[in-house]
Amino acid sequence: MDSLEDLRFDNRFVRELPGDAVGENYCRPVLEACYSRVSPTPVADPSLVACSAEVVEALGLALGQGARSEFAEVFAGNRQLAGMRPYAACYGGHQFGNWAGQLGDGRAIALGEVLTPGGGRLELQLKGAGPTPYSRGADGRAVMRSSVREFLCSEAMHHLGVPTTRALSLVATGESVVRDMFYDGNPRPELGAVVCRVAPSFLRFGNYQIFAARRDYRTLRKLLDFTLRHYYPELGPVGEAGSYLRFFEEVGRRTLATVLEWQRVGFVHGVMNTDNMSILGLTIDYGPYGWLDDFDPDWTPNTTDAHGRRYRYGHQPQVALWNLARLAEALAPLMGDGRELGGLEHQLADLELTLKYGEPRVFFRKLGLHVGRDGREREPEAEDLRLVAALRSLLVEVETDMTLFFRGLANVCALGAEEALADDEAWLVPVAEAHYRPEALDASYRARLAAWMDSYRRRLGALGAADALRRQHMNRINPKYVLRNYLAQLAIDRAEAGDASLIEELLQLLRSPYDEQPEHQKHAVRRPDWARDRPGCSMLSCSS
Ligand code: AMP
Ligand code: MG
Repeated sequence: MDSLEDLRFDNRFVRELPGDAVGENYCRPVLEACYSRVSPTPVADPSLVACSAEVVEALGLALGQGARSEFAEVFAGNRQLAGMRPYAACYGGHQFGNWAGQLGDGRAIALGEVLTPGGGRLELQLKGAGPTPYSRGADGRAVMRSSVREFLCSEAMHHLGVPTTRALSLVATGESVVRDMFYDGNPRPELGAVVCRVAPSFLRFGNYQIFAARRDYRTLRKLLDFTLRHYYPELGPVGEAGSYLRFFEEVGRRTLATVLEWQRVGFVHGVMNTDNMSILGLTIDYGPYGWLDDFDPDWTPNTTDAHGRRYRYGHQPQVALWNLARLAEALAPLMGDGRELGGLEHQLADLELTLKYGEPRVFFRKLGLHVGRDGREREPEAEDLRLVAALRSLLVEVETDMTLFFRGLANVCALGAEEALADDEAWLVPVAEAHYRPEALDASYRARLAAWMDSYRRRLGALGAADALRRQHMNRINPKYVLRNYLAQLAIDRAEAGDASLIEELLQLLRSPYDEQPEHQKHAVRRPDWARDRPGCSMLSCSS
């Protein structure tokens, strides 16, 4: 394991792609270029708040490196290591359904691409590192509250098994940043922070869209060929007929797979604009995201989206598809002939089918119905899908905690065809903790939930997997611990008072989200009442 100074960089993005001809750092449209060279603006007094041991190790650094003052300086942007070539990327995007033109890294600055000991490559990117040519008049900074949220959630998602960008570090800048949190004319100074994000690439759909929108097909092709060459080599040599089509197919597959993982764990991204969609299918840009407490498909944490609810939980898969159609439009001008263009249409239709079958499948698996005799994976049948649909409509009727409900369900026992029901309500006990207002469950609801439970148990009995085996499978799909909105907010409250201990505790807890961890039981409970309407716990603005 090495020290910071031993990190080796090989910066393909700036070396191989066209860059901005203008060297100065002022806001402007940047044409025919994938990036602008720009350095982070130093901050007053950087200090490390938290870092992720796994990411430190993935980079080949010794764990002790985090304790060095140089570490905080480098990952606040105050000091550059030999070999770094900082840049901000140019991209555009559809925001809330409308083309927004040039956006770009307005406060993110990539430092360089690290050659890792495992033979891979990881880009380092600071978020909140100061203004760039893409800042559009904003300050280029980020506040502590949004940075704690990005840091913790990136790591939590990784440990849940959801593809995501990672977070190396969270550094306090020692400077204040003024934000009007609810855009209601009440700006106030907040603590500033910088997160260092880590991913093989931060390319987004919007990086391709911007060139297509400008009809700059030369630069578009360069960027696309770069992406294929370095990130999708398995799709065949660049320039080979059909390679762009195969690329789109693969991006589509990965994107939908990731969004279905969000559905599985109850994650709501909050701002699924095309500039926030990774070309590698990673979860990217943790802003006003949230976790479902009660299972409500219409819920979105983002107050900016409160009216249209475009990015509500239940709509995420459809939005992913819409975003993929925008990506297809951006790639279409490079598709040689009518056959290839037809291929794109065909693939979009295929992706729609993938969702049609993929979405119910998520819940089929959450119910453990995929575990057949001997533990073998089985395919859903009509009876399984009926159970899934019936449960979903029951869950939305009364406030039911999604995480607790599915985790509890693993403790239900199968029922043989010959066995009689003793007391059907007894089988509501494993999920009883999930109800936010148990007193509001009337007799009719209890009876219908009990009847569902009965059919479910009979179905499990018919499928024939041993209860213990099914429980094992289910407990790897239904997490016990997620980054509940109120938990993140408590960690923020403490961090703002100078105490990072809850960040550490949550980071540790969320390393093993599927394990029981009885010592952390207090974090596997329903959202407390005080958090119901508290900003940060149920509502978040884009202000960050
Ligand atoms: P987001 O909603 O965080 O995905 O950001 C949308 C766009 O606004 C991106 O181009 C960001 O870089 C930019 N942006 C957001 N906040 C700031 C800021 N404080 N300073 C400069 N640019 C920003
Ligand atoms: Mg963004």
